[in-house]
Amino acid sequence: MSDKPVARPRIADACICCGGQSLEKSPAILMPFVAHRVFGWAPVEIDDSWGLRTIRNGNAYSICNSVSCLDCGMLFLDIRFSDPEMEALYSGYRQAEYTALRDHYEPGYAERNDTLNQGIGFIPEIEAFLTPFLPLPVRVLDWGGDTGINTPFKSASTLFHVYDISGKPGIAGAVMVDRDTARRTAYDLIVCSNVLEHIPYPLDTLSDIRGLMSRDTVLYIEVPHEEVVRRNPEGTVLCALKRHWHEHVNFFGLEALRRLLAAAGMDAVAVRELGSEPDSVHPHQLMLACRLA
Ligand SMILES: [Zn+2]
Repeated sequence: MSDKPVARPRIADACICCGGQSLEKSPAILMPFVAHRVFGWAPVEIDDSWGLRTIRNGNAYSICNSVSCLDCGMLFLDIRFSDPEMEALYSGYRQAEYTALRDHYEPGYAERNDTLNQGIGFIPEIEAFLTPFLPLPVRVLDWGGDTGINTPFKSASTLFHVYDISGKPGIAGAVMVDRDTARRTAYDLIVCSNVLEHIPYPLDTLSDIRGLMSRDTVLYIEVPHEEVVRRNPEGTVLCALKRHWHEHVNFFGLEALRRLLAAAGMDAVAVRELGSEPDSVHPHQLMLACRLA
């Protein structure tokens, strides 16, 4: 499982979840904030002064394709960012420079960001979901956990490690660790929450995490249950319904996640669709507790 498949193309030519090659594509745009931060490509207005004979005047944005996998239902952006591009996008995540550029393209973002930086409100829901599978207190690693602000079981942990590429300092009690430290440490719980939707090749991330797990380790995966996925029956080809891409480059359904887990040598032992209950105040998220298969 640790052997990574060789090809990691810039433009995905197979499903990034199940590897399937029955794909359908539909044109979309890469949102200006992401195009600018990753590639340095700002949108432009083409007018007569450009002197282009075969191009019409108008706004030019970075184009891309939305891709649907006909095997597992996965919906994803065809562009797959490289490590340096991921670094460009996520270094200093939601800090001053990031926020200023994003607010330029998406007015009102700075205000929303203040709320995001205060953390999520459903950590008790996550802890209740995971408690049946864990010995408490736990040794926890939050993989891609930002500052540790959203890590479950913070106050019921004997070890609180966070691995993240944003380079930010951790909150009180969090120990920011590198991969080598994580490899040398035994964990009861590894958290991979709101990470996989950002990652070019999620199987690589799960393979890395798999190398840190023992038979007793629980992996908690959480991804957004995006509206276009949620509102359409499984089996619907979604690519033509998705016209723009931002930081979330992968839109998962449960079947796609199950195939991804199987490819990584893991099984889901529990699944919850947060936000799906009537009158729920929570955002729509897919929550999975996983173990080695
Ligand atoms: Zn697939």
